[in-house]
Amino acid sequence: MGSRGPAGATRSDPRARGAVVVLRPVLLALVYLWVLPNSLIGLLSFAIARLAGARASIVDGVLEVTGPGVRALLEQLPVRYPIAAITLGHVVLGCDPEGLARTRAHERVHVEQYQRWGPAFIPAYLLASLFAWLRGRDVYLDNRFEREAYALDGDAGAPRR
Ligand SMILES: [Zn+2]
Repeated sequence: MGSRGPAGATRSDPRARGAVVVLRPVLLALVYLWVLPNSLIGLLSFAIARLAGARASIVDGVLEVTGPGVRALLEQLPVRYPIAAITLGHVVLGCDPEGLARTRAHERVHVEQYQRWGPAFIPAYLLASLFAWLRGRDVYLDNRFEREAYALDGDAGAPRR
């Protein structure tokens, strides 16, 4: 006996399966659209890094960019820690392929955060850093989004204080 769906159809009902087949790509497109303002920043960064030889590939629906141009871009960021990778929407920029692989689980948590927060993610991230700073904490390690990513990525590679 199948369970009832929201429209009263059972799971074994071919109409319900058809609705899932149709809705899944539509929902996926809406998620990418919701994150697009952030992804455009990532794509612009890719375009700049591409001039210096960066390359891109799609891994699990995310555009991963690496190469010498990316390293030069990441070195311009005003942060205390060396950055192996950064996520901008559905674009992840990594200094090198090894860094991309090592940080993939962490950066995928950030992709999920972008999917939750959409265009509000970057302002929310900056406010979380400001909030941490106002409490005398570390603007990176005590940022709530980083804490979530380090807690969920299964990697013990968080920068040491
Ligand atoms: Zn992070």
